[in-house]
Amino acid sequence: MKMGTEKQTYLNYINGEWIHSSTGKIEASLNPANIDDIVGYVQESGVEDVNVAVEAARRAQAAWRKLSGPKRGEYLFRAADVLEKRLDEIAETMTREMGKTLPEAKGEVQRGVNILRYYAGEGMRSIGEVIPSMDSEALMFTTRVPLGVVGVITPWNFPVAIPIWKIAPAIVYGNTVVFKPAQETAVTAAKIVECFDQAGLPAGVVNLVTGKGSVIGNAIAEHPHIHGITFTGSNEVGKTIAQKAVARGAKYQLEMGGKNPVIVLEDADLDRAVEATISGGLRSTGQKCTATSRVFVQSSIYESFKEQLLAKIKQLKIGDGLKEGVWMGPCASRKQLETILSYIEKGIEEGATLLCGGRRLVDGELGNGFYIEPTVFENVSPNMTIAREEIFGPVLSLIKVDTFEEALALANDTPFGLSASIFTQNIGKMLAFIQDIEAGLVRINEESAGVELQAPFGGMKQSSSHSREQGRAAIEFFTAIKTVFVKG
Ligand code: NDP
Repeated sequence: MKMGTEKQTYLNYINGEWIHSSTGKIEASLNPANIDDIVGYVQESGVEDVNVAVEAARRAQAAWRKLSGPKRGEYLFRAADVLEKRLDEIAETMTREMGKTLPEAKGEVQRGVNILRYYAGEGMRSIGEVIPSMDSEALMFTTRVPLGVVGVITPWNFPVAIPIWKIAPAIVYGNTVVFKPAQETAVTAAKIVECFDQAGLPAGVVNLVTGKGSVIGNAIAEHPHIHGITFTGSNEVGKTIAQKAVARGAKYQLEMGGKNPVIVLEDADLDRAVEATISGGLRSTGQKCTATSRVFVQSSIYESFKEQLLAKIKQLKIGDGLKEGVWMGPCASRKQLETILSYIEKGIEEGATLLCGGRRLVDGELGNGFYIEPTVFENVSPNMTIAREEIFGPVLSLIKVDTFEEALALANDTPFGLSASIFTQNIGKMLAFIQDIEAGLVRINEESAGVELQAPFGGMKQSSSHSREQGRAAIEFFTAIKTVFVKG
């Protein structure tokens, strides 16, 4: 086994071996807080590498699926222990590779550990049910079987938690995996796979291939021997994956964007609503699919909410996420920075009022990274681009509303439906919100971002392909049901 040290070249992991890609090409993974800092070099693989990885995963399938669930779970417990031991190191790599602050990165690695333990336990839980047959002498039951080889395609914003919440259930239910992480966070991904390797996972059960999504992600989507694809990322790419999967009858699961609203009513605890709007909207530089984006505030409290919000935002410390006391790090990449800046420009062009922020930060050492000011707009109308498209950056739009009903209608006026929150003390409004908001995650007096690993996660409308990840819900995607009828 080849272990990772900083600035080394990270390899693909296929059939239990760390190997160079067939293309011979490598790419530097840069620190978005300081582009002179190279985190490591990663493989820029080609289609042939995917083919070899799929073959390895297919070969490993036969023995892996025959292991009992509890036995498979033991490997996950071991991987959790290894990841826990390497928590500080992997969190630091994550911060250097995609910019989120070190405390957030540590929290995410700990979440990865917890997810592994949760799904390790899942290996012992029920995988079917007995259903009474019309024939009193027969036994009718369901049992769940793995899909086969699963392709795991993940983004850069949660480079530990998302891969683990896909890989852990995939393998505990008996699938084998070809994992393609976002190239921006491929070093972090290699370290996760090192943990599986150190845990003694049999060769071929988890395979890592790094490279461009348009090349190897596409090859995974089209590969005839990949039976299921689980993807998190943009709607644009998600849709193409779905089309390819449908064309060849493969199962797919997509978790995509959000345009998440928070509604603040006049009876809300204002301090709490302000804190939650800042945390939900700006933490991780707004690069969460559950991040708050549109803030609907009742007119009677609008001015005081705005004043408090802007005052608190001014105090946020922006800088290298490795440094103590920093609250918000850089954008994850130059591409992401440019996308966010172009949305801000569009907001101004279309007539929204910029209340704060809006610019790239370039003073002193910030000039070497992809930093951006936290940004707040007002006078945002529902048809503006910044009110409709996912920005994936630290940008909030304040929208004044007269009533709860108006807020609800506007909150639902979006193609997305991932997360939504409301701040109120009124139980009737809370219940109406739970009933009528079009979102897969509904949060009352709590920020829009935040998921617990033991509960189902996913969105409505264009935010997902309507299946759910995490918790017990994961079994629905990663297994197929057999209905069995037995007569003696
Ligand atoms: P992408 O959807 O492009 O990337 C997500 C993953 O898909 C990456 O591993 C990527 O590979 C891969 N990929 C890219 N193209 C293809 C393809 N044709 N076939 C198969 N896989 C592919 O997201 P970006 O990183 O470019 O971010 C763009 C926007 O997407 C963001 O601004 C944000 O709005 C949204 N997004 C949403 C996320 C969420 O959590 N819902 C997460 C990330 C992004 P690679 O990056 O290596 O090329």
